[in-house]
Amino acid sequence: MYDYLIIGTGLFGAVFAREAADRGKRVLMIDRRDHIAGNVYTREQEGIQVHQYGAHIFHSNEKRAWDYVNRFSEFNRFTNSPIANFHGELYSLPFNMYTFNRMWGVVTPEEARERIERERREAAISEPKNLEEQAISLVGTEIYEKLIKGYTEKQWGRSCRELPSFIIKRLPVRYTFDNNYFNALYQGIPIGGYTAMLERMLSGIELRLGVDYLKEREELSALAKRVLFTGPIDEYYDFRLGALEYRSLRFETELLDIPNFQGNAAVNYTDRETPWTRIIEHKWFEFGRDREGNPLPKTIISREYSSEWRIGEEPYYPVNDEKNQARCREYQKLAEGEEKVFFGGRLGEYRYYDMDAVILSALRAAERELG
Ligand code: UDP
Repeated sequence: MYDYLIIGTGLFGAVFAREAADRGKRVLMIDRRDHIAGNVYTREQEGIQVHQYGAHIFHSNEKRAWDYVNRFSEFNRFTNSPIANFHGELYSLPFNMYTFNRMWGVVTPEEARERIERERREAAISEPKNLEEQAISLVGTEIYEKLIKGYTEKQWGRSCRELPSFIIKRLPVRYTFDNNYFNALYQGIPIGGYTAMLERMLSGIELRLGVDYLKEREELSALAKRVLFTGPIDEYYDFRLGALEYRSLRFETELLDIPNFQGNAAVNYTDRETPWTRIIEHKWFEFGRDREGNPLPKTIISREYSSEWRIGEEPYYPVNDEKNQARCREYQKLAEGEEKVFFGGRLGEYRYYDMDAVILSALRAAERELG
């Protein structure tokens, strides 16, 4: 008999498992994939750590989260500075003085402020009610049209007028020359990859891969006193209140026999016409070098395409609009009635989560559960 059966070996499940095991609990983890680590999984190819389910850049302002991950891996000093490509015009992200200079030729913060102020006045927005209005009131109409509208509508498959404004709040606006995408005190990529970090986190914990809990839930649940489910909460309930909507991603990954494709880890294609949202060149997360510090002769790129999720596909981003939030609350009511099972993580809670927030949420869950 196990104390905990944990479904899903992503960050939430792994942190909870570590905490339970460290408190002397017997833990069994299962995952329906044939590998651990959920969507932070990385695999090595040609000396390059490939972020198989999309780029993951660890960033946090929370010392507790940073200290936690550093127990299991060293981190490099990677700083995310994506480039936006709008029909071949290249801009710095997030929005900062380099972006404003390239866009309008302005030189001082004062000139940039005046320009944005004027565009905002012309758009006549007082209280932003959706992502479009929020974006225009932050950066004006031209930046919205060139760097936000197309990208966001490709990524979410919805008009910016129908999207909640909190999505865009992830993107800082600065009147300084600072290309660091994240306003975070701590940032980096685990040296040797996320999979190795999670392997260390899960050391000594029993694992069964390629096992689909939902196909044999009674037999598996009988093995443990408590069950943590980190998969999609609606799927757990067989979508009985309707499916929650997600955006899915598809990656076209290519090994190229050249050392440098785009000169940066991430280039966002912010026009509407290019079908992909961004291209990730994985080697630049580790400065283009292998573990011994030698430059890598080849490169691996992933074109990222966003699509509407359908049952049976991989869910990525929860669509946290009002309709889906309301449906999610109904599922949460069902979950509150469970005696043995509890839920957590991006899919279990249906939340657009950064990695540090997932870790802190798992630590809190562990404190509640385990004391
Ligand atoms: N965004 C944008 N243009 C960009 C990058 C981001 O308009 O070049 C907006 C878009 O609405 C997106 C949001 O900012 O959904 C958050 O983007 P981010 O890249 O931070 O999301 P991630 O996919 O990395 O979680």
